[in-house]
Amino acid sequence: MNFKKIISGPLFWILLVLLGLVIVVPLLLTSSGTGQRVDTNIGMELIEQGEVTEARIDDGDSRVDLTLEEPFELDGRTLEGAVHFHFSQARAETVAETIAQADLEGYTDEPEQSNWFLSMLGFMIPFLLIAILFIWLITRMSGGGSRVMQFGKSKAKMFDKDMPQVTFADVAGADEAVEELQEIREFLAEPQKFQRLGAKIPKGVLLYGPPGTGKTLLAKAVAGEAGGSFYSISGSDFVEMFVGVGASRVRDLFKQAKENAPAIIFVDEIDAVGRQRGAGVGGGNDEREQTLNQLLVEMDGFDPNSNIIVIAATNRPDVLDPALLRPGRFDRQIPVEAPDFAGRKAILEVHSKGKPMVDDLDVEQIARKTPGFTGADLANVLNEAALLTARSNADLIDDRAVDEAIDRVMAGPQKRTRLMKDHERRVTAYHEGGHALVAAALNYSAPVTKITILPRGRALGYTMVVPEDDKYSTTRNELLDQIAYAMGGRVAEEIVFHDPSTGAANDIQKATDTARKMVTEYGMSAKVGSVKLGSGDTNPFLGKEMATGKEYSEQLAAVVDQEVRAIIEEAHDEAYWALTENRDILDTLAEELLRRETLGAKEVAEIFAQVRKRPRREVWESSPRRPIVTEDPLGGDPDA
Ligand code: ADP
Ligand code: MG
Ligand code: ZN
Repeated sequence: MNFKKIISGPLFWILLVLLGLVIVVPLLLTSSGTGQRVDTNIGMELIEQGEVTEARIDDGDSRVDLTLEEPFELDGRTLEGAVHFHFSQARAETVAETIAQADLEGYTDEPEQSNWFLSMLGFMIPFLLIAILFIWLITRMSGGGSRVMQFGKSKAKMFDKDMPQVTFADVAGADEAVEELQEIREFLAEPQKFQRLGAKIPKGVLLYGPPGTGKTLLAKAVAGEAGGSFYSISGSDFVEMFVGVGASRVRDLFKQAKENAPAIIFVDEIDAVGRQRGAGVGGGNDEREQTLNQLLVEMDGFDPNSNIIVIAATNRPDVLDPALLRPGRFDRQIPVEAPDFAGRKAILEVHSKGKPMVDDLDVEQIARKTPGFTGADLANVLNEAALLTARSNADLIDDRAVDEAIDRVMAGPQKRTRLMKDHERRVTAYHEGGHALVAAALNYSAPVTKITILPRGRALGYTMVVPEDDKYSTTRNELLDQIAYAMGGRVAEEIVFHDPSTGAANDIQKATDTARKMVTEYGMSAKVGSVKLGSGDTNPFLGKEMATGKEYSEQLAAVVDQEVRAIIEEAHDEAYWALTENRDILDTLAEELLRRETLGAKEVAEIFAQVRKRPRREVWESSPRRPIVTEDPLGGDPDA
């Protein structure tokens, strides 16, 4: 448990308030005595000398209140009327005796009535406050006083007949996801059709992608189209309560859904409960794990014919417990990504209904200005633009309003996307184009299936090459192609801009790793030979250096470095050749990317139809004795 976690939990605050009470309440409740305070000895002296008419002992506070008969001079100050002094417990008896002997009229050692009442109150108040605090916390957590008694009940909102009608038509620019979900809708609407053929209907569907891309919207659309009941609950609803509640909520939720089948259970933000179990030092979060376990149990438990489908959504598929993704659970996984240009246009189309614009403004222009925006961002832009227009008492939304709205949405608190500056976009287009073109010009690369310059996570864009068949091993030529392909992005930047960017760091890392493995693990360097160097298995507790503990000499290490470098330089040359020979195609490709942002396999293939292929590499010669270096990297001259 770290400090932040402790501070954000309620326990910390409860303890803090209690501590405060323990300190403050006694202070508040002790009447601090009347009149001036004097030393114990002086007080006693006053009593003994008969200067006082009245003395009252307050045992609880070890204090004596005195009333002086007449003003009394002491060390230059005048005591008058009421005076008090404190005594230590050790002297309590002496004090009492002294007062008794003084035989005062008003002497009493009875505590006052009000005092007694006060101390009772002092006793009660902390308890009262704790009770109040407790009730307040509970009501706040469950969102209303009336819910206090319903801990275990599922908080899922059920929508039935009066569910807000969302249909697939409301979701734009997510065609692939919609297509997959159409299928789910069919499962729900006509289960017999599939069961007749013995097909198993999927139990769970996971929608994943960045926030605001329409995952929640898609789930609602499935429900709207399928016409069943729809239960929607957010992962964070499960975790906010006390131990054991999340699990019983899950149970309750599934019970309700079964009674109202066909039904969709929608678990939004499932990462809140579905995080990998047992992660983190200190055992993790029991409550969350119980909830997750219950969810798994319920998903395993319901029979595939019960006509319930669980749809979950998350921004963080990477942190999900692998158990959730096993067959029979969320085995359908549908990516929902930030829309490309065409997608943005379609989304703007949907959201611009009822928002009149000036004649020379159309959604295409807005789509052009908003690369990286999600559906939610775009809806926001149009809404802001409408607000700005209304505020300035205009009738039609114009360019300026849209531009300002875009700025506002970008600067907004939930800004997640970023607009790339024009130059950065150009660099990215050439970088990604470089990768793709090198893959196309070499002989052992898989075909390019997708190129995009939409920023995603920390990557500015990416290029995807997918082999046609499953592959279980990779040849030397394929590895060399991979390295050249990795260098392609950087080389394109060099050739076109003569000012390479940091965007290639990851590519360089990958290329270096592959080259090093070729030399130290795959036996693909003739100089080093077919030996495995370094222990290979990484120990997470040791640094990388320690883990691959060098079991070989400095000289051999130098040879390895030389070989790795030679492979990379060769790959650089190949990429350079591919891009300069095909410079016209590179330019066309970059232009198309800037225009359309994402290109699919077909469009890429069209552009690459005329690519000049690089001749095949020299064959790997086999020989009985290879120039393996054992001691001296420079080939045997001892004075070198
Ligand atoms: P997520 O659940 O992925 O974070 P939401 O579904 O909550 O995103 O989207 C928020 C809002 O953004 C939606 O209600 C809708 O108005 C708008 N929106 C998001 N994606 C789309 C889309 N693909 N088509 C139309 N509107 C969208
Ligand atoms: Mg959502
Ligand atoms: Zn790259």
